[in-house]
Amino acid sequence: MKRLLRKIRETGRVAEPPPQRHEGVPPANVRELGGSVQVRHVDAGSCNGCEVEIASAFGPVYDAERYGVRLVASPRHADALLVTGPVTRNMQVALRRTYEAVPEPKVVVALGDCARNCGAFAGAYGVVGAVGDVVPVDAEVPGCPPEPEAIVATLRALSGR
Ligand code: SF4
Repeated sequence: MKRLLRKIRETGRVAEPPPQRHEGVPPANVRELGGSVQVRHVDAGSCNGCEVEIASAFGPVYDAERYGVRLVASPRHADALLVTGPVTRNMQVALRRTYEAVPEPKVVVALGDCARNCGAFAGAYGVVGAVGDVVPVDAEVPGCPPEPEAIVATLRALSGR
């Protein structure tokens, strides 16, 4: 136990300093959700690069949870959808149903260039379109993939913390 406490004292803080609120995010159409936001992530056809950055955003260094943001396992427990990838044919109905399962009021965030405009997969035969072609999008996080700071900044815009 003493060794563990000493290690904690020697290591110190590992989390990045908080990014500026709304940094790199268009906040105009983003409603704050009262200090706490539950997020359901949907991979609609991503290459998984965006998922690596989401994992970083919720890891110990960027620690999105300190701003009242939590990933949840069910859309019925969520306030917001975080959608990655272009929407593939196999995921079109699933994304629509997941959106419908989120209680009102709800927010949809298109994360990554593929979610915003199909990115590198534009024109691929298995791609139906961008996230905004299937469900209404309230906020976007640009980048391929977006950096964890930008993801955290957007989620902070939702939680208002
Ligand atoms: S935006 Fe880039 S990293 Fe994210 S799913 Fe598309 S190709 Fe992959």
